[in-house]
Amino acid sequence: MRIIDHHIGGTTVSSGNRTADIFDPNTGQVQAQVRLGDAATLERAVAAARAAQPGWAATNPQRRARVMFKFKELVEAEIDALAHVLSMEHGKVLADSRGDIQRGLEVIEFCCGIPHVMKGEFTHGAGPGIDIWAFRQPIGIGAGITPFNFPAMIPMWMAGVAIATGNAFILKPSERDPTLPYMLGDLFRRAGLPDGVFSVVNGDKEMVDAIIAHPEIAAISFVGSSDVAEYIHANGCANGKRVQAMGGAKNHAIVMPDADLDAVVRDLAGAAFGSAGERCMALPVVVPVGDATAQALRTKLLPAIAALRIGTSTDPQADYGPVVTAAHKAKIESYIDMGVAEGAELVVDGRGYVLQGHEGGFFVGPTLFDHVTPDMRSYREEIFGPVLQIVRAADFEAALKLPSEHQYGNGVTIFTRNGHAAREFAARVNVGMVGVNVPIPVPVAYHSFGGWKRSAFGDIGQHGMEGVQFWTKRKTVTGRWPDGGVGDTAGASGSAFVIPTMG
Ligand code: NAD
Repeated sequence: MRIIDHHIGGTTVSSGNRTADIFDPNTGQVQAQVRLGDAATLERAVAAARAAQPGWAATNPQRRARVMFKFKELVEAEIDALAHVLSMEHGKVLADSRGDIQRGLEVIEFCCGIPHVMKGEFTHGAGPGIDIWAFRQPIGIGAGITPFNFPAMIPMWMAGVAIATGNAFILKPSERDPTLPYMLGDLFRRAGLPDGVFSVVNGDKEMVDAIIAHPEIAAISFVGSSDVAEYIHANGCANGKRVQAMGGAKNHAIVMPDADLDAVVRDLAGAAFGSAGERCMALPVVVPVGDATAQALRTKLLPAIAALRIGTSTDPQADYGPVVTAAHKAKIESYIDMGVAEGAELVVDGRGYVLQGHEGGFFVGPTLFDHVTPDMRSYREEIFGPVLQIVRAADFEAALKLPSEHQYGNGVTIFTRNGHAAREFAARVNVGMVGVNVPIPVPVAYHSFGGWKRSAFGDIGQHGMEGVQFWTKRKTVTGRWPDGGVGDTAGASGSAFVIPTMG
């Protein structure tokens, strides 16, 4: 049986007594095992990081950027093989896996510009003979804990910025699809990154708790479900660490009566069912405004859903593949049961879906509910599967209220031709990332990513300038060169016993 070990100090390390199964979601068969590390495993990664980080931080930013350029080149050259590895563990189709890798590479591209981004601030003549300069220094050793659903993009969001800014970075990927993250270690090494600057430690809660407890890890970046995000944020902060922790989501698409419904249906099909709905920026809730809009939308959605092709993750014709595990399939189907029990109208039922020839695979058919209401638990909670819920709203104000009052606030979008409605919506909605006629408003790499409410704990977003802020700390130097030379620090006015002012 293939075993996925840890990548520590530039080499493969076997450490830890436990393993977990990795499934092929297309067949349901165990295809490999991942070694689950423990505190001793982490200690080895921290020791490698401690040895490597000062030298890496002292490497000039242009040289650090060159490693990013080279890494990007290597990943691009191998993208098809990497996408295949990703699809075989996650279940998303190959084109989507290439997209997962490409979105990560866009952050690496942003990191290629790190010398410019880290130039700092300078004020000449802030007082008599006084200059002030502020610059950002790496925080030291950071850790990233990532979810199963973007095993390439999210590790690259974190590792790219952390490394480019001069830190050592330890990645703890999801134990459900760890092979691609593990392979990043070798790619960084081949790109010229010194051993120990990037390590991958595999594991589960035991490893996460070791990271939270480790005194030398200065920052934790987390992406995953909200309860775990909250746990890591609370405990990491209590241990004096800087923590950003992105959580779950339930994103709404508001459809105004003037929207182009054909375009909306095309966008919704991809955003609700693509990647089997396992995206934190998926659109699992659609809110048509007015009954006429709801009726017309439903009529157009039905043939679009019927036309969806479900296949294995390597089938080039498939729109989406299996979900990640049998447990996740069971969870999604239990939410469909719940929706029925709560009185929502089940228009298309994806339960019990079987793909011929792949009877053991973790497939879930596309599911559509209508007349879902805000009091239903199946609406309030994240399902994370190919399930679209129609929640009807009487008017714009009622539609605006739904995402604004939901516990999650990751993404939202409005489909309309009315610029004023779009502008009002974007200004007033209580959600962090907003689309206007854009179904999946994930900010590009040089902007920052992060939702609100229970979708993100901690204030600083991923990548872009907030990413740089997260992985660095500001130092401000106030310097004076008095007329009389370096020794004349008191100047003509002698000692000062009051707080100095520049005025
Ligand atoms: P998850 O929370 O189960 O796992 C995420 C990470 O936390 C994994 O590395 C896992 O090993 C670890 N973990 C799991 N349980 C833990 C526990 N009890 N204590 C400590 N660590 C634990 O999430 P997942 O199922 O891998 O990913 C799907 C979730 O991630 C969804 O909720 C999705 O919305 C969310 N997500 C959010 C974003 C975002 O940016 N907001 C992006 C992608 C995914």
